[in-house]
This record gives sequence, C-alpha cells and structure tokens, in this order.
Amino acid sequence: MPLAAMREIILPAQAAGRGIGAFNVIGIEHAEAIVAGAEAAGAPVVLQISENCIAYHGAFAPIARACLAVATSATVPVAVHLDHASGPELVEAAAELGLASVMYDASRLPYASNVGSTAQVARWCHDRGIWVEAELGEIGGKNGLHSPLARTDPDEAARFVAATTVDALAVAVGSSHAMLTRDAVVDLGLIDRIRRAVRVPLVLHGSSGVADGDLVAAIGAGMTKVNIATQLNKVFTAAVRHTLSREPATVDPRSYGSAGREAIASEVTRLLRMLGAGSTSQEVAAGPREPAARTGAQAGGAGEPLSPVE
Ligand SMILES: [Zn+2]
Repeated sequence: MPLAAMREIILPAQAAGRGIGAFNVIGIEHAEAIVAGAEAAGAPVVLQISENCIAYHGAFAPIARACLAVATSATVPVAVHLDHASGPELVEAAAELGLASVMYDASRLPYASNVGSTAQVARWCHDRGIWVEAELGEIGGKNGLHSPLARTDPDEAARFVAATTVDALAVAVGSSHAMLTRDAVVDLGLIDRIRRAVRVPLVLHGSSGVADGDLVAAIGAGMTKVNIATQLNKVFTAAVRHTLSREPATVDPRSYGSAGREAIASEVTRLLRMLGAGSTSQEVAAGPREPAARTGAQAGGAGEPLSPVE
C-alpha cells in the first residue's frame, strides 16, 4: 500500500476525527525521513512539494520523481502533493509528473477571482482524477511576514466550496506560516463553525507555529490535514549543526545528513502519534467525531529562518 491517493488517506481520517500529517520535503533526505517516521508510527502520511521547494531545486521533476519513488517503496500509504501552486502551469506540471493531489492557492486574489480561478483549476483536475485543495482567507506568513489576523468566514467558506467544487479547504484560523515559535493562538470556535458549514476536509497551514496541545485541540474542533514544514527544518538543522560542531573535521555529508534525517524521522513519528494519525480498520466506520481533550502544550526550540511557505 505505498503510493496512495489523497482521498484514501484523508477521508477515513476526517470520518474518524483523526489528524493527517502533511510534511514539506526539501531534499530526498526529507522524503526518506518523513516516510521512515510514518512507518515507525504505523500511520499514513503526505509528502508535500511546495512551489518554493521547486524554485530551490530549479526544477520540478527530480524532486517529484524522488518523492514518488520513496512513496512507492513505503510500507504505509503515502500521498505526494503539490503545495501552494500559485498558477495553473504548475498544477499541469504536477499532473504530468504523476502527482494526484495539488493545492491551488489563489487566496491572494479578491474573492470572486479566487472562486473563478480555483473552479477552473478544479474542473481541469477532476477531469484527470486529481484531488484539489484550495485556500480561502489568506493565511499569513507566505511573504515572510507573520499576520495571524486573517480569518476565514464560515458562510463564505461554504459558498466557496460549493462554487469551486474543491476537495479540501485551507482556512485562516490564527496560524501563520514559517513561525519559529509555537505560540500561535488557534481559534477553536471558528474551526468548529467552519466545520459545521463545510463538508470537505479542512487543512491547517502554518502548523509549526502551533503548540502540540493546540494541534490536538484543532483536530478535535474539526481540522483534518495538518501541514508542517518549519518544525522539521528546525530539528534537521539543529541535528546537522550539532554534528558539525562535534566533528568539525568531517567532510562526508553522510555523517551530518544522516543525523538530520534521523532527527526528522523521530519528530515525524512523535507528531503523527500526537495527531492520532495511525489508522485502524474500525475507524472508517466510526461515528461522528467528538472534540478531543486538550493536552498540555509543548513548546519547540529555536529554529532556522527557512522556506516561508508550508
Ligand atoms: Zn501553507
């Protein structure tokens, strides 16, 4: 059950009130580590490739093919997803490469233009069996600035999903991209209101800035897909820095690369267990979700200024 469709992973999780971890890849080490961490947790997982990641590599195909190959040899279901495509060309390139899930982000546009553009992309994708996530109520941090003030209106969200036919919706509820501290205040009441207004799975972006207990509470309130990028970059870079300072004479990237990879894998395992991402055969038939109990928050350490979009 290696390479999986997003719907196979996300719909049972939504029905059961479980979270799904969606982690941003930078290099192949990230993909290997994320899948190793998911295998250790016995949980499905999403590998995400952002437009910024593609810009870093200067090409889409090598990193996409690497992720698809890593997914194909996994022992847990792995979906490979294009994150934050700002134009339809990238969506078409993703389809060409065999990705069956994309996020089309026209949230910077006025509402009517966001609807028109997203509906067009969704139609194109659905003709090809591709899952489409879109965003309403621009989530902060994409330009490197943290604006936790944006909010998605529940009624507008319902109209947006109906008009665009998207399969999942990223909403602004207090989180912000690329935060190095984990103190974003997530509006749980708003998540609950959006969840009641919208049937498709909801996506929390900028989850690295949200403390563990608040992530669990957000899932309890109605979030399903939890996007995490910066948190993995923090643990990766800390492990690499630690190894290089301990072994200053090393020249072999495998010494510090494997340390970074192991740090990501164990953080992914920890996060997926916390999100309740591991599936059981009973869960698909589970009844309506109940709000999860709030657990104690755990703050992350200092991090690195890396890719602003997750
Ligand atoms: Zn995002």
